[in-house]
Amino acid sequence: MEKVFLTTIRGASMTLNDLRQSIKGRVVLRGDECFDDARRAWNRAVDQPVLAVVEVYDAEDVATLVTYARQERLTVTAQQSGHRPSGDVEGVILLRTERLNDVAVNPDTRTARVGAGAMWDQVLMAGSPHELAGLAGSSSVVSVLGSALGGGAGWFGRKYGFAANSVRAFDAVDADGLPIRVTADSDPDLFWAMRGGGGDFAMVTAMEFDLLPMPALYGGRMLWAVDQAPRVLDAYREITANAPDELSAWFTLLHLPDSPPLVTVAATFLGGPAEARSLLRPLDDIDGVIADSRCVIPVGELGGICAESVDPGPELWRTELLTGLDDRAAQLLLAKPIDPLTSVQIRHLGGALAVDPPGGGAVPALAAPYMLAMLGTPRDLAATAAVRAKMNEITDTLGDYLTGTKPYTSLAPGEDVSLTFPESTLVRLRALKRSLDPHNVFRGKFPILR
Ligand SMILES: Cc1cc2nc3c(=O)[nH]c(=O)nc-3n(C[C@H](O)[C@H](O)[C@H](O)COP(=O)(O)OP(=O)(O)OC[C@H]3O[C@@H](n4cnc5c(N)ncnc54)[C@H](O)[C@@H]3O)c2cc1C
Repeated sequence: MEKVFLTTIRGASMTLNDLRQSIKGRVVLRGDECFDDARRAWNRAVDQPVLAVVEVYDAEDVATLVTYARQERLTVTAQQSGHRPSGDVEGVILLRTERLNDVAVNPDTRTARVGAGAMWDQVLMAGSPHELAGLAGSSSVVSVLGSALGGGAGWFGRKYGFAANSVRAFDAVDADGLPIRVTADSDPDLFWAMRGGGGDFAMVTAMEFDLLPMPALYGGRMLWAVDQAPRVLDAYREITANAPDELSAWFTLLHLPDSPPLVTVAATFLGGPAEARSLLRPLDDIDGVIADSRCVIPVGELGGICAESVDPGPELWRTELLTGLDDRAAQLLLAKPIDPLTSVQIRHLGGALAVDPPGGGAVPALAAPYMLAMLGTPRDLAATAAVRAKMNEITDTLGDYLTGTKPYTSLAPGEDVSLTFPESTLVRLRALKRSLDPHNVFRGKFPILR
């Protein structure tokens, strides 16, 4: 059935408009009234000047679109909804995967199978009754596939590593429009590249990955007024200096609009409440706690710990890896208010994130012990400039402590993959890209080849 369908569209050159007849989903072209809505990313700060938007209905639509693009020498980039888009999409077809959002959890094999457009909250909710979880990050509304293709350093990364390395199989469409199933056995090179090397190698329709047993999960967040930041940061450094891999703790300076500036520590612990409280005890000595949500939580509530926005809006972000967080770095970090930024977060890395596991994917281990993540939510151009200036000021101040490298999933518009991958990995990824997709039918959000 699929072959007949593909032969039909291979027969003659088609226009983008003709594609509407072959695609079961929606094809939106420049000039269509809904074009600007359809091409918008969830993150409203990033423009997406694409040629067309194709909202696929199923895997067959994906194959049809790729075949068309190959034939017409066009390029396709995929996106669930674009939480951290690059904007590097001029003239390409944007394939939207939102409708490919099936999620199935198999408690016997401890695996999940998700469509390319599934979000983390779907997996967490489906796994929760079975006390199983995937390697989700802080936001429950980012795409499972998008984070795995780029690496994915989440709450349980210190214990279990990157989401990319939990993948068992991808169902995808290759650059000729043909369906493929990519596993360690079927195609070790491609399987390696797709686990952390981004969306440059195949168009994925579904993914299967390991779930982890989560019989006990403790987590939550404590908040204080920002004048307690020095004490909180000291406590945070003490906690993370000795933390077991089961504990993940993130320190945040937070200044939401119409709210006083705050300091928070969010944490998860893979174990019981008594041990968690004991590991986090230095925080209990700090007066003036405004809120403390720490308790035993079901896995399905993981995405709520940091209370990140789930609604589309303009966000600017910049991420850096830190070589350490000694007294001087702590003083520099707290030297000035974070205005006009919304948040400045320090995440504790290490553990399994610092190790390249045997048989792992292209995602590079993170040797840095901490990550600095800055976020601004500017509403106009003047505010945008002020946010950028503040991010530059902070990174200049912390200059000695920056590694100069960043995870793929944290890259921002204008940055590129040379910040993520060691040279030997880039050489291997680029050779593979040239051999598998010589006509550049696919473009990842931060392309491997320029
Ligand atoms: C609030 C927030 C919190 C975050 N927290 C974390 C965190 O804790 N840890 C972490 O590692 N990251 C985190 N991220 C970053 C996140 O992992 C990246 O944005 C990631 O790219 C997935 O998110 P997305 O929904 O933007 O993905 P998408 O835009 O859907 O996908 C990302 C990229 O993957 C590729 N891709 C997507 N679908 C396909 C497909 N079907 N076939 C081929 N390629 C495809 C494309 O190149 C695409 O541009 C966070 C982001 C936000 C906004």
